[in-house]
Amino acid sequence: MRKILALHTGGTISMHEDELGQVLPGEENPIARAEIALPENVEIINEEIFNLPSPHITPAHMLQLKERILYAIQHENVQGIVITHGTDTLEETAYFLDSTIQLMFPIVLTGAMRSSNELGSDGLYNFLSALRVASDNKAIGKGVLVVMNDEIHTARYVTKTHTTNVATFRTPTHGPIGIVTKTEIVFFHQLQYQEKYNISTVDGNIPIIKAYAGMTDEIFNMLDFHKTNGLVIEALGAGNLPPKVLEGLKKVLLNDIPVVLVSRCFNGIAEPVYAYTGGGMELAKLGVMFSNGINSQKARLKLLIGLNAKLKGTELSDFIHDA
Ligand code: ASP
Repeated sequence: MRKILALHTGGTISMHEDELGQVLPGEENPIARAEIALPENVEIINEEIFNLPSPHITPAHMLQLKERILYAIQHENVQGIVITHGTDTLEETAYFLDSTIQLMFPIVLTGAMRSSNELGSDGLYNFLSALRVASDNKAIGKGVLVVMNDEIHTARYVTKTHTTNVATFRTPTHGPIGIVTKTEIVFFHQLQYQEKYNISTVDGNIPIIKAYAGMTDEIFNMLDFHKTNGLVIEALGAGNLPPKVLEGLKKVLLNDIPVVLVSRCFNGIAEPVYAYTGGGMELAKLGVMFSNGINSQKARLKLLIGLNAKLKGTELSDFIHDA
């Protein structure tokens, strides 16, 4: 028998629609109580760890989930984890767990775009697919996975791309790592190893700033440097910024605030290529750290994890650059 712990955190998958068309959480989570035909040899333990819409999830909840998972794997003879979660920040929780847990067993996140009593509700189906993946040996060693709409994505690169469509989760640049068919779990790729830090705190204030045409350094000058522990900038194209940003950005760096750069482009990797004023070459020389193909919300978590793991200097920039 394979024991899977299903940790329910809330989100649309656990909500219902009322007569006015409003989607809202109820007292009971319909997914945690549903009768489903489990994959052969699978025993499931349901636990409602939170009942939160995912915009209410914080890094402190992610840390709590990590501790709960480690405890279950070490003390409760659990061989796989499924987490149901709101889709809005699902990719962030998945990324946090992927970056902080040294995996031996599959950890799979899923959610739903349609609540439990809506026509074409995808919650139970996605939950069953996630259970199938979490109980399959092929999922071992693939990092934290996100299973939705018959696709398997890596926590590292998946992102929510549509406000309402059930096919919202996509993996830009790389594509899904596998699929769920009627009879099988099929993987296409192998994920590269990435350093993990089993942190016990998530302290720090790290805002994300998005670049745009005509941007100046006004927003950098508004930052309280004493209350800012790091900064993530979603830069333009291959990794460039408008020239008027530079003065403010230099002040941030002079205050020893680490700055991570990602691209606001949906696909590709930001790199120091251009040598004009504000170009990536100049930014790298100033000490801006280039990330490696993850989006800004994940880069923010990565910097938070790096800082809480007490990484500094090249150790921190290597960690940031390692996807
Ligand atoms: N707003 C919801 C949430 O993230 C959306 C969802 O679950 O799909 O909790």
